[in-house]
Amino acid sequence: FNSAQLEPFVRTFYTEPEEISAMTEEEVEDMRLSLDNVKIRGKNCPRPVFKWSHLGLTSDIMDLITKKLNFSSPTPIQAQAVPAIMSGQDVIGISKTGSGKTVSFLLPLLRQIRAARPLGHDETGPLGLILAPTRELAVQIHEEVQKFIGISHRERSICCTGGSEMKRQIHEIKKGVEIVVATPGRFIDLLTLNSGRLLDTKRITFVVMDEADRLFDLGFEPQVTEIMKTIRPDKQCVLFSATFPSKLRSFAMRVLNDPITITINSKSLINENIKQKVAIYNDDQEKFQGLLSILEGRENSIKERSDLEDVDDKTIIFVSSQQICDLIYFRLEERGITTYAIHAGKPYAERASSLEKFKKTRNGILLCTEVLSRGLNVPEVSLVVIYNAVKTFAQYVHTAGRTARGTKSGITVTLLLSDELNAAYILKKSFREEEIETHNEYTKFKLIEMGSKFENGMNSGKFRLGKGFGGKGLDHMEMVKEQKL
Ligand code: ADP
Ligand code: MG
Repeated sequence: FNSAQLEPFVRTFYTEPEEISAMTEEEVEDMRLSLDNVKIRGKNCPRPVFKWSHLGLTSDIMDLITKKLNFSSPTPIQAQAVPAIMSGQDVIGISKTGSGKTVSFLLPLLRQIRAARPLGHDETGPLGLILAPTRELAVQIHEEVQKFIGISHRERSICCTGGSEMKRQIHEIKKGVEIVVATPGRFIDLLTLNSGRLLDTKRITFVVMDEADRLFDLGFEPQVTEIMKTIRPDKQCVLFSATFPSKLRSFAMRVLNDPITITINSKSLINENIKQKVAIYNDDQEKFQGLLSILEGRENSIKERSDLEDVDDKTIIFVSSQQICDLIYFRLEERGITTYAIHAGKPYAERASSLEKFKKTRNGILLCTEVLSRGLNVPEVSLVVIYNAVKTFAQYVHTAGRTARGTKSGITVTLLLSDELNAAYILKKSFREEEIETHNEYTKFKLIEMGSKFENGMNSGKFRLGKGFGGKGLDHMEMVKEQKL
């Protein structure tokens, strides 16, 4: 390849919208947790988005997605991969089957093709190439491509697989096609046809390897490598797969140019040994009564079991401020319930000694502020009560994770007020289906209703994800102080 002869092409189309730029690092971190814990590796990965409108799509594509297909918001892989690809970089996207990978590469592919110089009369194309391992998958991707270009008829696409009629494919290609979806074997056949004068790879600037793990399992590596050699080295190349075995990884690192790797963690955010629960109350008074009955129920169960075995079931109650910590401490004390309380307002020596006593006390109860939870590791804790609902996914992951240490199991229960929509959204996204089912009809209904209300508000711009986080002012000071414990 002589780079001086390569026709320039545009590959960057993404401008970070104001709503995303305005977020703090912590809010972005939290958004990534909320997007099924999306992990990124590589340089200069843009922040994920959470609305279609963040992507600067053309109005015909917006209409198709939101009105015809009724996709309310981007899936986690779409939220992170589309801005990454549209900012011009090579991307590896790993996400389970059914998570919306096709749209993740189709939107940037179409965008790039539309900005390119149209095919001349003497050019067959394509501009974009999508490689898939099997005929069935190629057909399926092609149907999706047709949906997206069907609206404007600006681009032409063709599906080339073995077992389908070659003559018709040749006929179509001669008329010019912007997008080819193909299996590697058939694409090579077409390349070599007519001593290489039928298909021209000169103008390909966007290559997709879809279901790359299967491409490998089926032994297509040599063909894919051969195809890549015919395409300009500065093309944009993306690879999508449900799994990412190490031999695929080393191939990808060889073929792609300084790629960003995006992995969606399909596992739950919360350790599977933790059983998540929620109780919803109308006001603080009711909530305190709720706490009392949880503690009472627990005491009774411990009493019953202590006759038969050595029981050490510790409890941690998380509260949001020092004031609430002191208040709950006294109100429980009044009712004969002894707890240990730690927060940043207490001298270090006192905190350390309370923590020691808690560790030594069988079935002890610890009251503490959320920021102190990070790093706290007491294996006997089998119940976490989140008395003041969390504001961020990160908080929830950290507090819920104070139980079920190691291989032990535990319960986390959040006491939620009926106007705490943000927290309801976090819980709704963190609970497993069967955990939602363990609740009574009212709680189930309420949680889903509150969570959906927040989600809708977020889409309309009324609510902001992670609001309340941001490490500002006093909260931040408290956090810095408490981290010294
Ligand atoms: P994958 O390639 O990850 O297995 P697909 O791209 O085939 O997944 O998408 C799976 C299904 O999800 C398809 O029916 C697709 O139309 C649908 N889908 C894609 N994106 C969204 C979205 N943002 N919201 C809702 N459904 C979507
Ligand atoms: Mg797919």
